[in-house]
Amino acid sequence: MTLVMALAAAAAGDASPPVADHAAPAMSVPDRDGAMPRSVVQPRPMGGEGRAPAFEYAYGPPATPRLQGIYRRVRDADLLRRLPEVQAIDGMFALPRRVRYVTAECGEFGAFYRPDQTQVVLCYETLHTLYERGLEQQRALGQDEGYALRYTRANVRFIVLHETGHALVQLLDLPVTGRQEDAMDQLAAILMLRFAGLDETPHQVVGNLDMAANWMLSRSTGAYNLHAYADEHALGEQRYFNLQCLIYGTDPEGFAGMVDAGDLTAARAAGCARETRRASRAWVRLLLPHLAPGYEAYGDEAVRYLQRGG
Ligand SMILES: [Zn+2]
Repeated sequence: MTLVMALAAAAAGDASPPVADHAAPAMSVPDRDGAMPRSVVQPRPMGGEGRAPAFEYAYGPPATPRLQGIYRRVRDADLLRRLPEVQAIDGMFALPRRVRYVTAECGEFGAFYRPDQTQVVLCYETLHTLYERGLEQQRALGQDEGYALRYTRANVRFIVLHETGHALVQLLDLPVTGRQEDAMDQLAAILMLRFAGLDETPHQVVGNLDMAANWMLSRSTGAYNLHAYADEHALGEQRYFNLQCLIYGTDPEGFAGMVDAGDLTAARAAGCARETRRASRAWVRLLLPHLAPGYEAYGDEAVRYLQRGG
């Protein structure tokens, strides 16, 4: 299957594969719900009026002929609008400006946020590279034919949410301490775990996050220089373990196998439940005051934060 066909299939909402296929092979996802409640936000029952979309989507034509096919398929399938978490949070927050999601030819692999244009840009080159890496893994790991597509899609979701995080921080003037890039990885994970009221099961969500973690590790050469150490992003290995810790922290008992498999050290794992809870609470608390009129938070947790914040 070519990338363009695969992307079209993904965006067309192909039938969900069996749950087990969602997980990267290195990790077995426990067959039960984690302890962390799944979602904290829902549309108000009568809130249709307030629920206006806050995002726009556009697909820029590339100049390079070899990217034309990808462009057409992505555009025809309206890929960005159909990313589940983006769909779920479109309109959820009261933003002072619209956020525009665009695909574009960038000349290199990447995705970024342009604050001056409130624009999240996903490069066609990124889609291409992710799918190629997915195919490599599919072959190396003896995965089924749909693996590369799921790998691409899971990573696109994470990447776009990371960039969405930059947009939310700017537009809602959210405080961030520590390194913003680490915070954006956390936010992307929390958005996937908690804010998007998706049809997917918790362990499908975890499977997607695991593929995002896998990508970070697979990009790494392990050979670093001063530029890498000084970069605003953590090293690929660190981003990998940070994500693994957030996954593990949702259900330490269920994910005990991750430590045995070497996906997480025992020393780090010991604090992951607390780490995940802390990150989740922080983002829930930062975001809930900014819900658009058509949405409401629910559950004791939300009520507690809103009262305290008010
Ligand atoms: Zn970033």
